[in-house]
Amino acid sequence: MSDVFCKVDDKNIPVYRIMWLADVPHFCGEEDCMREGQYEIRLEQGESVWANREERDRTLEAIERWAGMPPEDEDPDAEPW
Ligand SMILES: [Zn+2]
Repeated sequence: MSDVFCKVDDKNIPVYRIMWLADVPHFCGEEDCMREGQYEIRLEQGESVWANREERDRTLEAIERWAGMPPEDEDPDAEPW
């Protein structure tokens, strides 16, 4: 399988269509909310898909691979902890 796609909620999403990923699970307080505890992944054109934590983490990894992110120890802007 190509690194260009990541699988979320049984859909293969091209990583270049992803605008952002939620860092925390969705919570809006509505009693009938179907998305509580899921992570929103926003796509171009206002579409969203909803991922569980594992899918969200895999998606992040896929984006990093696709973007060719350098290893952390080579990042000159890395802040010391
Ligand atoms: Zn909600």
